[in-house]
This record gives sequence, C-alpha cells and structure tokens, in this order.
Amino acid sequence: MGINLAYIVACVFFILGIKKLNKPQTARRGNFLSALGMLIAVTAVFFENDVVQSWTTSNWLQNGYLWCFAGILIGSAVGWIWAKKVKMTGMPELVALFNGFGGLASALVAFAQRDEGVLTVVDATAVCATILIGSMAFTGSMLAWGKLSEKIPGRAIVFKGQKPLNGILLLAVIAAAVVYVLPNTDGDLKFMAVITLSALSLILGLTVVLPIGGGDMPVVISLMNSLSGVAAAAAGFMIANTALIVAGCLVGASGIVLTIIMCKAMNRSIGNLLFSGFGSAQAASKKGPQTEPKAISAEDAFMILEAAQSVVFVPGYGMAVAQAQHVIKELAEKLEANGAEVSFAIHPVAGRMPGHMNVLLAEADIPYEQLKTMDEMNPAMPAQDVAIVIGANDVVNPAAETDPSSPIYGMPIVKAYEAKTVFVLKRGKGRGFSGIENELFCMQNALMIYGDAKATISALSGEFADA
Ligand code: NDP
Repeated sequence: MGINLAYIVACVFFILGIKKLNKPQTARRGNFLSALGMLIAVTAVFFENDVVQSWTTSNWLQNGYLWCFAGILIGSAVGWIWAKKVKMTGMPELVALFNGFGGLASALVAFAQRDEGVLTVVDATAVCATILIGSMAFTGSMLAWGKLSEKIPGRAIVFKGQKPLNGILLLAVIAAAVVYVLPNTDGDLKFMAVITLSALSLILGLTVVLPIGGGDMPVVISLMNSLSGVAAAAAGFMIANTALIVAGCLVGASGIVLTIIMCKAMNRSIGNLLFSGFGSAQAASKKGPQTEPKAISAEDAFMILEAAQSVVFVPGYGMAVAQAQHVIKELAEKLEANGAEVSFAIHPVAGRMPGHMNVLLAEADIPYEQLKTMDEMNPAMPAQDVAIVIGANDVVNPAAETDPSSPIYGMPIVKAYEAKTVFVLKRGKGRGFSGIENELFCMQNALMIYGDAKATISALSGEFADA
C-alpha cells in the first residue's frame, strides 16, 4: 500500500515536471520535479519485498542492496560528470547515449526475467517485446550518437537490398519470439530462441538507423527516445512495477509527439524519414550558387544598421556554437536605443534540437515578446530593413522553396531573403547540416560578414558604442 502510494506520488511529479517543461521560465523547476519523482520511485523500490529479503542473505553476491547502491553510485558519478562537461551543442549526442543505455537496461531486465519453464504466454510476449525494442533502441542510439558526434560519417549509408534485409531480420525476430512464447517448446530451444532474438534485434537497430543521416539524425534520436520509453513500459509490465510503466509510457508518448513535431517542421513523414535515405551522398543536391557572395566588414555593415528602423535576427546552429546570445542581447538593446524595432525569427528546427534557440535566447534574458515564430515573422519580412542571419543556413535556404531536386525541398523556411538587406554571419563557406549549398548568400540583397558570430556581433555592437 505504502509503496503504491509512493509510486503514485512519483508519477504525479513526472507529469507535473513534463508540464512545466513547456516554458523556458518553468523548465528548470519541471526538470527538478521529475528528478524528485524519480528519487521517490527509486527509494520505494528499496522497500519492495524481494529487495528487502535479499538484504538478509549471507551470500554478498546475492545481496540486492549492495548491487543497487553500487549501480547508483557508479551511474550517478558518470551521469553527473557527463552532464557537467557537455556543451549545449552536444546535448542531442548525450540524449542519444541516455536513450541507448535506457533501452539496454530494459532489455537486460527482460533477459534476466526470461524463464525457460514457467512464464505465461503474456509474460513471455512481454519479454520478447522488451528485448526487441530495448535492443533496437540501444544499437540504434549508439549509431545515432556516432553519426551526430562525427565519430563515424554522418551521412545516410544506403546499400542495395537494405529494405529486404530489414524485412528478413524482422521476420526472423518474430519467428524466434514465437518459438520462445509457445508453451510446449523445450527449455534448451527456448534459450536458443531468446539468444537469437536478442542478437537479431541488436543488428536490426543498426540496419534501421544506417540509411538515415544528415539533418534527420536529431529526429532519429527523438524516435529512439520514444522506443526506449516503450521498452521501459514493457519491462514495467513484466516486473509489475507501476512507476516504470507510467514513466515508460510518458517517455514513449512524448518522444513520438516530438518526432511528429520535428517531421512536420521539416515537411516530412516518419515513413519518408525512415525509408527514403535522405542525407545520403546520392540524395545531396550538387546544385550550387552560380556567383560569388559579396562580403563586407562589420564597420561597413554598421552604416546600414545605424539607419535601420526594423531589424530581425534569424539565429541558427552557428549562434549556439559561437555562444553569441549574450552579445546579441547587447546589440539588440543598442538598436532599440537607436530607434529600431527589433525581433527574432525562430525556425522550429533551427539548431540541433527543438527549442534550442529559445533556450539560448531566454538564457540571455531576451524579452519573450520579441521572439516570433517563423509563421508569425514571415509575413512581416518584406517590411524589415535588415535581417541578420546568425549562423543559420538550412533554415533560411530558398532552395527549400525553389529547387524541387533539393533534399530540403518543401521544408518551410524563415524567408530572410525577403528583407530589404540581409547580413549573413558565418565563419566561411561551410554548408549547413544537410550539406547543401545556399543561394541566399549570392542574392542581390545579401551581404556576408565572415567570422565567428560572437566576434562579429561584438564588433557591430562596439561600433554603436564608438558612434
Ligand atoms: P545549419 O546546420 O544549417 O547551419 C549552421 C551554420 O552555422 C553553418 O553553415 C556554419 O557555417 C555556421 N557556423 C558554425 N559555427 C559558427 C560560428 N562559430 N559563427 C558563425 N557561424 C557559424 O543550421 P540551421 O540552424 O540553419 O539548421 C538546422 C539544421 O538541423 C537543419 O538542417 C535542420 O533540419 C536540422 N535539424 C534540426 C533539428 C532541431 O530539432 N533543431 C531536428 C532535426 C534536424 P560556417 O562553417 O561557414 O561557419
């Protein structure tokens, strides 16, 4: 009774925590509430009968508390150091690793719970489902982590017969599961079936993620997040743990909602994302701008900026790399003091995770009313005197509207090119995440200001101070 009550309280904390994550102002508190819920759930587990009984055993290897505390100590130390060290731009990789280990944990729980004799059909099916989903989430996430962190080539790797291979693997997994679940199967055969199922599921995770690459990787990570949640929920059913079922369902559901939001923002379907091989060398558009971009210095740009009545900032991944948000706030204040109306146009997939730009701009205390969504800002774009594109590339690429052969064709973009003058702040001729050229840089109204975004913005801001 007491334990169930603790689980209910933990679940309420999880739900409140997620609710508070929907605004930057309350997100920290939401994170704290969810972590508190997890602490309550973990503490409650220590008072479960099986764990309490294991405390009295004379064999230290079977002492549940010892293993739990060792696990908590090692896991907390690794998690703490990793989370402290990670840069904001490395968050998706960290999330990929967490998803992977979550999936692996569920698969291991299922493997430990397997029993070649007494499991009912329902329990045996739960074991198979948990091993399949957990193992796929593990290897799929590891591959996604390798691609995103550029430990291995980030592009989609497509080979002939890939889809049939995945189909055959899935059929073999189902066959092994049926052998395991059937009540009359001999114990040794059941063991072989569960080993085969585990090995094939690990391979399937790799072969499903292999043909996905480029700008789709963050979406894959969200999908893997969802899978690791479903695996945890299945493991919860298996060991009859309410808190694990609820937490798993919350992760599974929120992960899939996020995946759908990202796909919509990129104008893709999940099926297209999983099976189209987008981001492969073959898919990447070779078409590039025909003319050279015009470059100017920060001093020259200041002359134009000083006369501007309306200025819109369009941040992208490069702003996160440069950590330019604080100097942007400074420049925005100087522009306002100079009489200009300032706004920020936020593309839903700018950066490397949803809300990436909002979080960074909120961290710099940029007034919330100045942050406009892409849909709010686009109609007002032709009236803007200057659009300052800060380390954004794909999300302002007109090819998404004009070039049907482009892999990003159909993705909604911030129409920065419609502003009277466009400043593009980037370090050089580097491409965006999807690896394609950007014609915006060569347009009549576009001017490049090369250099690190933070240095360039500081230089522009400095010009205002000197004027
Ligand atoms: P991009 O990755 O397209 O472009 C970033 C640009 O920033 C690069 O061209 C780079 O050019 C420049 N840059 C890098 N470092 C600096 C720096 N220190 N100072 C100035 N410029 C710098 O970013 P976007 O935000 O435009 O697009 C995001 C991409 O990620 C899209 O393809 C989107 O589909 C994808 N994506 C994002 C998701 C999300 O949730 N946010 C989810 C799924 C996909 P250079 O090297 O020349 O400096």
